[in-house]
Amino acid sequence: MTTFSELKLDPKVLKAIAEAGYTAPTPIQAQAIPYALEGRDILGIAQTGTGKTASFTLPLITRLGRGRARARMPRSLVLAPTRELAAQVAENFDTYAKHTRLTKALLIGGVAFGEQDKLIDRGVDVLIATPGRLLDHFERGKLLLTGVEVMVVDEADRMLDMGFIPDIERIFGLTPFTRQTFFYSATMAPEIERITNTFLSNPARIEIARQATASETITQELIQIQAARRDTAAKLKRETLRSLINNEGDKLENAIIFCNRKVDVDIVSKSLIRHKFDAAPIHGDLDQSVRTRTLERFRAGELRLLIASDVAARGLDVPSVSHVFNFDLPSHPEDYVHRIGRTGRAGRSGKAISIMVPSDQKYLDAIEALLQKTLPRAEAPEVQPAPTRVRHKDRSAKTEAAEETTAVARAPADDAAPQQQPVAATPAPRQETSRRGQPRNPAGRDHAPRERRSNRDGAIVGMGDHVPDFLMREFRSA
Ligand code: AMP
Repeated sequence: MTTFSELKLDPKVLKAIAEAGYTAPTPIQAQAIPYALEGRDILGIAQTGTGKTASFTLPLITRLGRGRARARMPRSLVLAPTRELAAQVAENFDTYAKHTRLTKALLIGGVAFGEQDKLIDRGVDVLIATPGRLLDHFERGKLLLTGVEVMVVDEADRMLDMGFIPDIERIFGLTPFTRQTFFYSATMAPEIERITNTFLSNPARIEIARQATASETITQELIQIQAARRDTAAKLKRETLRSLINNEGDKLENAIIFCNRKVDVDIVSKSLIRHKFDAAPIHGDLDQSVRTRTLERFRAGELRLLIASDVAARGLDVPSVSHVFNFDLPSHPEDYVHRIGRTGRAGRSGKAISIMVPSDQKYLDAIEALLQKTLPRAEAPEVQPAPTRVRHKDRSAKTEAAEETTAVARAPADDAAPQQQPVAATPAPRQETSRRGQPRNPAGRDHAPRERRSNRDGAIVGMGDHVPDFLMREFRSA
């Protein structure tokens, strides 16, 4: 077996990895690092969890050890598809480069430009970025990529999924063609193959076998449910999830709950919070500072349930997760392996529970084909329905489900029953006028918006007792 000391890495790097507790290189490190140190381009076909980040970071640091950074001209560039992955690469860099004087900047959305500009102005050895943010900086004239000696593209298949390939091609074009390129992807879609043929020069191709089998330490369960009515299916899923969580009791220390769509990440998390679970969402539309704080809390054991989308959770390194729930079965079978691989790490035991509805059959077939096994079926739990509310006869179940999820964000008065709602006492003498002050409704027909109509007592319905002054004012044409 190869040892790190055989790999001709900078002694400062060797010291840092020994301190990180790594005893031997992983297969991708053992195979890629010698080529990387020879200056070859690398095409790494490997997934998160294989140690691929160190496989490019360690030789990168060794190579950059010689030389100095110049203002606004980074010497190397690492592109990652999401902010979290970029931040994780930056963390790895800090660990492995801690005995060197190399500098880095992290360019990700959601962080103010000013601080990032200052770092770049001073000159950085390693620039770690998401493609969009990098191009934003470039277009503001703050950055020159002509000094890039090494360029890394991490998780290219995710970049493809997220529509970043044109940005990547553009960035390649802005760097010198003499650069060394490290390119990583979990799969080789035709579009990825095309990019590598165009931008890599005689790369060493290193393929780490796809992780088609889930870890032995993970117990898997499939729960099949079917709602009596289509419009209650989503609600039943949420109730099932709550029951599953409750049934796990104390065995559930913390869990990641995966949804296929961002909108459902929000809905499920709001619903769980409303039912007094300690939960928070993470997906690409949330502010970066919120995402970072949520992840830190989850890593620190201060948050029990993290509701996530695949993109946001991809590659996130949370060492100890007792449970994974698939609120939705993933549409790509590889995502199933990624998702459940969040638990059962480092020999610990873990449990992965998936909820399936009849329309998921094709996804289940693909997952079972990839795993080459049948997922163990478990009985659906007794659902503990949410307390029923008085339903107005024309309110649909859909509206109720939507309300269940938005209720947490609303003011308490909004939740009160309609008859308890205070109404404004005095009606505003009102004539609808146009912006120019002309009566909009010369024929005297009532075009007033529904929520501002007066009720029979003359009150303004829907405003509670907080009718703003301007609504009570009379408008006259000049
Ligand atoms: P990655 O695939 O780069 O996301 O790495 C997955 C995890 O493996 C990270 O937590 C790394 O810190 C860890 N790791 C990377 N290389 C090694 C190694 N040679 N020995 C032990 N752990 C490692």
